[in-house]
Amino acid sequence: MSNVPSHLSTLAAHGWDDDWAAAFAPHAAQGLVPGRVVRVDRGLCDVLTEDGVVRADTEFVVPRDPMKVICTGDWAAVDPAGDPRYVRAYLPRRTAFVRSTSSKRSEGQVLAANVDHAIVAVSLAAELDLGRIERFLALAWESGAEPLVVLTKADLVPDATGLSYLVEDVEKTAPGAQVLPLSSRTGEGVDVLRAIVAGGTSVLLGVSGAGKSTLANALMGADVMDVQETREVDGKGRHTTTTRNLLTLPGGGVLIDTPGLRGVGLWDAETGVGRVFAEIEELAADCRFHDCRHEAEPGCAVLDALERGELPERRLESYRKLQRENQYIIAKSDARVRAEMRRTWKQRGRIGKMMMEAKRGEHQGPR
Ligand code: ZN
Repeated sequence: MSNVPSHLSTLAAHGWDDDWAAAFAPHAAQGLVPGRVVRVDRGLCDVLTEDGVVRADTEFVVPRDPMKVICTGDWAAVDPAGDPRYVRAYLPRRTAFVRSTSSKRSEGQVLAANVDHAIVAVSLAAELDLGRIERFLALAWESGAEPLVVLTKADLVPDATGLSYLVEDVEKTAPGAQVLPLSSRTGEGVDVLRAIVAGGTSVLLGVSGAGKSTLANALMGADVMDVQETREVDGKGRHTTTTRNLLTLPGGGVLIDTPGLRGVGLWDAETGVGRVFAEIEELAADCRFHDCRHEAEPGCAVLDALERGELPERRLESYRKLQRENQYIIAKSDARVRAEMRRTWKQRGRIGKMMMEAKRGEHQGPR
């Protein structure tokens, strides 16, 4: 039986590994070739294969479930030849970024698949909005990707002590996530970030003005807008201009930059919210009542911590706000889609939480 080796150069540079190769084996046996989706557009997608980018029809992978629509970052099984070529299947996703659509049925939409690092960009040029950071972190954890908070424009903070206080504030807001101050002007932190993203697939999250484009350009070593526009020759020898949403970083790794990711909202991010507020969830385990809402119940460990000044009030309020928002989205969303998501992500969340707890135990010791 034929198999696709994991050392194929172009694909390896875009995240292909032994596990993907193993998952692809049945498709390889059917003579299909693997490729990573760099763009999806109106029933067609551009797939980066070992022989370059091919345009393929997605007719055979159109599901009813919007969560199963092929998206940028997916690993596709494509016909080896033909015009058009077809995507016959794609591999089960390791992670996925989902947003709730504005439609009445509130179904999710997958924006990016198989992302390893979710970089939350936060500008130090503006006042820190910790609640907003928590929201992006919830999304990041929920996707299954590893979050990283990058504090951009660090050169605008006048002194080192001031900067270390800001970093500390964000670190308390982001348990389990690395916080990295960075300046694309002075170059501070850029190498550290390059080294982190070199090992996989990354996305940039953050509000406009957070410095995402500057960050992307710093990672690319070029203007991302120019890089995204690629002139290609199609199967009939015609020159076409296309936009790629999956970019190869010169220092290793890939960056997914899709417009939709910028305005991403919460989608059933219960696991994600729990991870962002890990210390509250930890306290809640000691509440007298299993279903304690931490409002006025006797024996509430969360309110006790608040009373003792160990838990900032802002943090508890932010936790409640995100939970309410999440419950609202759950209530109006399609039950079937929701069940599907849970099956996929719940276990990952549990494993991640266990790993994080083990990690925290190592670093901090018993409390
Ligand atoms: Zn409680």
